[in-house]
Amino acid sequence: MPELPEVETIKRDLEKAINNKNIVEVCVFKPKIIKEPDIAKFKRILTGARFLKVARRGKLLILKIQARNKQVLFLTIHLRMSGQLVFGAKSPSSRLCFKLSDKKYLSYNDQRLLGEVRLVHDWRKLKLICAMGPEPLDKTFTREKFQKRIAERTGKVKAVLLDQKFIAGLGNIYAAEVLFHSRINPMRQINTLDNSEIGGLFRNIKKILNNAIICRGTSFSDYRDGKGNRGDFFKKLSVYGRAGQACRRCKNEIERIKLGGRGTYFCGRCQR
Ligand SMILES: [Zn+2]
Repeated sequence: MPELPEVETIKRDLEKAINNKNIVEVCVFKPKIIKEPDIAKFKRILTGARFLKVARRGKLLILKIQARNKQVLFLTIHLRMSGQLVFGAKSPSSRLCFKLSDKKYLSYNDQRLLGEVRLVHDWRKLKLICAMGPEPLDKTFTREKFQKRIAERTGKVKAVLLDQKFIAGLGNIYAAEVLFHSRINPMRQINTLDNSEIGGLFRNIKKILNNAIICRGTSFSDYRDGKGNRGDFFKKLSVYGRAGQACRRCKNEIERIKLGGRGTYFCGRCQR
């Protein structure tokens, strides 16, 4: 599933590709992915509209548009498991497709059809957004704030990191990597972390997400960037997807367990 670095990479690619371009035609092949408004209204508003800006909040892409009647709206896209948003030539597997004024296409592909597309007047009012925790790479997200949020929580540290209400944008891959670099066992109760562990966790969240953005994200299965290419960070993964292989730090075998229904990778020797 695309996490913060993947969605940020798509955002940056699309910004360059679609800003100030008009939508000439809207083709909906799988109405199921459009959650609001109805398909007729969706097409009516977007045909002839212009893309003004691309933004991201957590794992949500937010495309600011101006309709023909000058009204400003937001096209929000949650890629979920297998969604892809690709700019360029027409894609044969697209579920939703925008033909643009430069004769190129913005295609939404989604093999499993779990993604969610909405056209709304105010993205800040979406339920998902109202409940969302802070942006980890935002300057206003400080160690003090992080520590305070941890003090309010109970449960296993990995489950808390995955909770979008605690912090936005982390998913199964980066939570595993952050915990490895912080030498914290994913099963630890979050209220047992000491000050130096919390400090390490805080620094590693920022560091690993930033590094992954530089590598244009991780392609494990379905993720593609805004140009349809794979991300490079998978070469740098320390634990995720490496069950049975040697730990890059201590050579112990990386383990895989199920935690809250999710495959969880860690080194039982390095991570305590
Ligand atoms: Zn190790």
